[in-house]
Amino acid sequence: MPSDPATFPIGLSVADARSLIEEIAASHRMPIESVKLRDALDRILAIDIDAPRDIPGFVNSAMDGFAVRARDLPDANTKSFRLRGEILAGSSEPLVVGADECVRITTGAALPNGADTVVMKENTRTQGDCIMIAAGTAAGANVRAADDDFHAHDRGLSRGARLNPARIAVLAAFGMAEVATAQRPDAVLLTTGNELVAPGKPLSFGQIHDSNRYSLGGLLQQHGATLRRHERIADNPELLRDALLRAGDDADIVVTSGGVSVGEADFMPQLIAQIGEVVFWKVRMKPGMPMLFGRIGRALVFALPGNPVSGFATFLALVKPAIDAMCSATPSAQSLFARLTATIHKRHSRAEFQRARLSSDATGTLLATPNRAQGSGMLHSIVDADALIVLPESVHDFAAGDVVEVMPLPGWPR
Ligand code: AMP
Ligand code: MG
Repeated sequence: MPSDPATFPIGLSVADARSLIEEIAASHRMPIESVKLRDALDRILAIDIDAPRDIPGFVNSAMDGFAVRARDLPDANTKSFRLRGEILAGSSEPLVVGADECVRITTGAALPNGADTVVMKENTRTQGDCIMIAAGTAAGANVRAADDDFHAHDRGLSRGARLNPARIAVLAAFGMAEVATAQRPDAVLLTTGNELVAPGKPLSFGQIHDSNRYSLGGLLQQHGATLRRHERIADNPELLRDALLRAGDDADIVVTSGGVSVGEADFMPQLIAQIGEVVFWKVRMKPGMPMLFGRIGRALVFALPGNPVSGFATFLALVKPAIDAMCSATPSAQSLFARLTATIHKRHSRAEFQRARLSSDATGTLLATPNRAQGSGMLHSIVDADALIVLPESVHDFAAGDVVEVMPLPGWPR
């Protein structure tokens, strides 16, 4: 439905913009699909997973050594035990340990019947057919219970978890070959501007190479979307309209860069209002103020300003939460805070996302040092940064030592 400029809000706070985006994104939930564990990395788990049984499932040895009955162990010096055989990990041979007997055992092997303790190999010595065992091993030592790792029906993983290597390993340990996850949203990226030229091609005067295609494309992929298509489009309303309509047909998320402000060649707000719906335009943030959020067809549309750093700030503050909400990902448990190492004076009343280096001091305190270069058009201000410092809109003066929220950039620590 076309939106009337009078009906959409302009100039939201970052927090209001984010909650509106999250609310709408949550009503654009991605369907659930089952994927093989080898394809599950970074996917969002769609269901709770409970341990199907005790894991590992049998009493076993935590050490390479000898399984014995604790009551046979010597109080002092060494004592001779008769060797009844050996059990290697994976063996199901039913051996029994009787009085003053032992069985050679390896880590992970099931304990033989009768045995309740494993003496480490290092505390033993072989003498003919016998094993000499030194005093000093406690009753029950080096034995893992059948439910040492998970008890049957324990909650293993909760829905919404991002599947990292450890979590996928839990699924494998539970015997699962596939897992239900949120489908990755399909993204279409449109970089717009008459001045843009593909890297590798020569520039005429006034032109620049399109770098946002790689920053925004990479951010989309790193945050769980599949980049289906990228198009580079001139500031031409017909071409832009056509590309937006096609993207609205076949994408879950459309990200555009450029042309969203109030310049002569900024067609995005008007076009999106005509062919789709503008939910809001402009956010009280720096950089990134002209950002627009809307819908076209079945897609959520994030029209981001063209300045390279604005793209990072708006993506991390407002597009990433949308992808998470579409996939029902559990939000990060907590924000990260650091102490400023320098004074900051902010003249405006918008939230500011400053590029900063992170380090820690000898007391274990996280420190944020604002980069000297803060221009929103400067890629080198972001390439030298570990994080964005989030300066709230209502505060203008920050002293060295003040605590501020920081949003680490993907890949930190480097
Ligand atoms: P705009 O948002 O279209 O007003 O563009 C703001 C600034 O970002 C201008 O200096 C553009 O040249 C620059 N810019 C726009 N798109 C890109 C892009 N894809 N890669 C690098 N710089 C861009
Ligand atoms: Mg432009």
